Amino acid sequence: MNYEKVFQDAVDKVKGEGRYRVFAHLERQAGNFPHATRHHPDGTTSDVVVWCSNDYLGQGQNQDVLAALSEAGARMGVGSGGTRNIAGTTYLHAELEKELADLHGKEAALLFTSGYVSNDAAISTIAQLMPDCIIVSDALNHASMIAGIRHSGCAKKIYRHNDMAHLEEILKSLPKAAPKLIAFESVYSMDGDISPMKQICDLADKYGAMTYLDEVHAVGLYGENGGGISEREGVADRITVIEGTLAKAFGLMGGYIAGSEAMVDAVRCAAPGFIFTTTLPPPLVAGAITSIRHVRATNELRVQHQERAQRLKDLLTAAGLPVMPSVTHIVPLMVGDAVRCKQATDMLLDEYGVYIQPINYPTVPVGTERLRITPSPFHDDDVMDELVTALKDVWMRLQLQNAA
Ligand SMILES: *Cc1c(COP(=O)(O)O)cnc(C)c1O
Repeated sequence: MNYEKVFQDAVDKVKGEGRYRVFAHLERQAGNFPHATRHHPDGTTSDVVVWCSNDYLGQGQNQDVLAALSEAGARMGVGSGGTRNIAGTTYLHAELEKELADLHGKEAALLFTSGYVSNDAAISTIAQLMPDCIIVSDALNHASMIAGIRHSGCAKKIYRHNDMAHLEEILKSLPKAAPKLIAFESVYSMDGDISPMKQICDLADKYGAMTYLDEVHAVGLYGENGGGISEREGVADRITVIEGTLAKAFGLMGGYIAGSEAMVDAVRCAAPGFIFTTTLPPPLVAGAITSIRHVRATNELRVQHQERAQRLKDLLTAAGLPVMPSVTHIVPLMVGDAVRCKQATDMLLDEYGVYIQPINYPTVPVGTERLRITPSPFHDDDVMDELVTALKDVWMRLQLQNAA
């Protein structure tokens, strides 16, 4: 067997489909978000404006967050030195979990090394704790939830995205006594739409199901205190498990679940993805506590964030560009073809200093390839005007489809 050839063929196949990914090597400029320096392979550099970061509020360079991180690092060192069970737990980990539980109005919370790990570990563990559990999952759920569902080994049913009639049809068809878990997201981050959370909770009540909500793209961004869409809609107390990340609006890294004391304790005792891996470094935990407190207390950030997103949507619409309908801070522009999507983003980066990653299969279905733009409160009118001019140029040069 020529192993190398198998690897090379796999890469060539991706290249042939026009979705081979090349990383841009960035140097973020703290204090100058969203500006960054791009390092080229030949050693030269150029300036770019980042339009695709999930550091939605620029918290990754908030001065207070940086100060908390440095202070904790100088005082406690960097690595945590172990898993949570063995030497890794600091008083800061406990404080952060308390803060997260409080953010969602829940009894308890549990930290993981990432949002991905939290979904994988929590969904698989919770479902395995229930004999013959059936997971009912939205068709567009994130890969990390799908991983958790697979690893649970439980039966699963998929309902059409946000289709409540279909969800009810499935719930109705399941054995009444069987434990059920409805898994869904609040903000779906590729289209920017929101799930009908109240209706899902009503159906969960009607059919005796638990609810598992991924709030990754909404924590810090929605609700008066940044508790997410479940806070905004007033349904947080009806959700069994709220899952979130520290890596998006909070600007750092790490994931978590929040819920009842017993549920969180059960996952803590059983989830391999929690037990068998080194926990987050104390400085990062200190930074996260500072970031969450700041974001919670500063509703102005959320207001500015929404204003900037709306402004960009308006500008793109006025320019005749194909903005996809989005009721959130996510601004997707349809291209509809993998090769041209990549061409467009290469051109934007190389010739206009505009950094947007192409979103291709398998992140979105083939034929719906797109640019996904994420304006922050720090993207001012000047960079927005430059962006729109660049996009208009590129759309014309590549003869891409305009708005219908
Ligand atoms: C980004 C993302 C995750 C994973 O979070 P990380 O902290 O980046 O691992 C989970 N769910 C959804 C919907 C996401 O978009």
